[in-house]
Amino acid sequence: MDIVAIVGRPNVGKSTLFNRLIGEKQSIVDNVSGVTRDRQYGQSNWNGKEFAVVDTGGFVRNSEDVFEAAIRDQVQIAIDEATVILFMVDVSTGLTDLDEQVAHLLRRAKKPVVLAVNKVDNHTRQLEANEFWSLGFEETFFLSSVTGSGTGELLDAVVEHV
Ligand code: GDP
Ligand code: MG
Repeated sequence: MDIVAIVGRPNVGKSTLFNRLIGEKQSIVDNVSGVTRDRQYGQSNWNGKEFAVVDTGGFVRNSEDVFEAAIRDQVQIAIDEATVILFMVDVSTGLTDLDEQVAHLLRRAKKPVVLAVNKVDNHTRQLEANEFWSLGFEETFFLSSVTGSGTGELLDAVVEHV
């Protein structure tokens, strides 16, 4: 089955979107040690297409270096296993160094990447969200995982790749 992997730094809203996508169907929880420990798998469908969704996260923040390495590991696994990568960023914090680092890794990957600018809850944030176009991803979408606004357009684009 095609895999949609959600990557991005902590607290951008990955799990919120994941839970919205899988609804009650959450079934598979991966429990392997190492970086895979923090990966959750679920199933979803959109526009009549079935796909698996992977939520990455739960990074241990021992030090800045370990933290960045953990994120790089998660991104590398996503690049290896996913059909399409959903890269999530957060308009409430704005663009960060870590976002830039993840973007750099993803740009070099030969996998489709859809950028999801999350927490775009209101009009002011819609204007602020425009800064993320600078990351250079042609497929950039603005959404609010909490209200669900914008998630339909995002998913339309994501399932084009599955
Ligand atoms: P993760 O670490 O990337 O998995 O992020 P979470 O899904 O755990 O969300 C982190 C925090 O952001 C939680 O308090 C969420 O309720 C909040 N959050 C997620 N999506 C949105 C959103 O669209 N708008 C707002 N305002 N908060 C959000
Ligand atoms: Mg999470």
